[in-house]
Amino acid sequence: MIYIGCHLSVADGYAAMGETMRRYGGNTFAWFTRNPRGGKTRAAEPGDLQALASCCRREQFGPLVAHGSYTMNLCSANPQTRANAREMLAADLDRMEMLPGNLYNFHPGAHTGQGTEAGIEEIAEGLRQALRAGRQTVVLLETMAGKGSEIGGTFEELRAILDRTESAGHLGICLDTCHVWDAGYDLRENPDHVLTEFDRIIGLSRLRAIHLNDSRNDRGSHKDRHEKLGQGYLGEEALKRIVRHPALQGLPFILETPNEEEGYIREIRMVQEWMEA
Ligand code: FE
Ligand code: FE
Ligand code: ZN
Repeated sequence: MIYIGCHLSVADGYAAMGETMRRYGGNTFAWFTRNPRGGKTRAAEPGDLQALASCCRREQFGPLVAHGSYTMNLCSANPQTRANAREMLAADLDRMEMLPGNLYNFHPGAHTGQGTEAGIEEIAEGLRQALRAGRQTVVLLETMAGKGSEIGGTFEELRAILDRTESAGHLGICLDTCHVWDAGYDLRENPDHVLTEFDRIIGLSRLRAIHLNDSRNDRGSHKDRHEKLGQGYLGEEALKRIVRHPALQGLPFILETPNEEEGYIREIRMVQEWMEA
């Protein structure tokens, strides 16, 4: 089995997200740790976080997958943006310490003109700094579509970041099916080969979460536009194979499809039917 859920809003608090996912019928979820525009975090009362943790235990949820802000760029050419990103990462991970056993995913960054090598080094330095403080949460680098100067559009770039980070024991990967497809990996016709490549370059033991999305664009487009399951270029058959893939069992799968409540409830149920069939 896999765990399935979607992105929720933290606006009404942490425990409320657990209740919402129970109502949606899923057993994991993701949330943006900050308002994407302002970069602000919602103040969290310890009691609210504890209530979420006990809801997750009671309902036997899989690991939750918090999502760092899109504005957090550890390898921006702008030193102020880089400094802000390091602060955001530290604060987000401090918060995650109150939800032990869960995961924190973020977009590695965009080098904005400095070049891939420099970008990789700065991301690794940011992670080294954040993990040196003894924080326990497993931090996931997301596979990216390779849009603009984004780092993480190839498995080799992600490997290079892991290689430069001591305490890499606290690092993993979140594979986004739309991004990997847009980056050029053929998840539709040859998922086994993509996962074999992932295993050879990064190691499947590093794979800790999946973002389950269809794509609005063809393979290799480097666009990053998500689509509802079965309505994009990946299509239902390919997504079904991914959900059922033996190498991916036990992982949390997060929907980031363009849906409101009703659509998410429908997709969660659909994925559960794929699992059972
Ligand atoms: Fe993401
Ligand atoms: Fe994603
Ligand atoms: Zn995306």
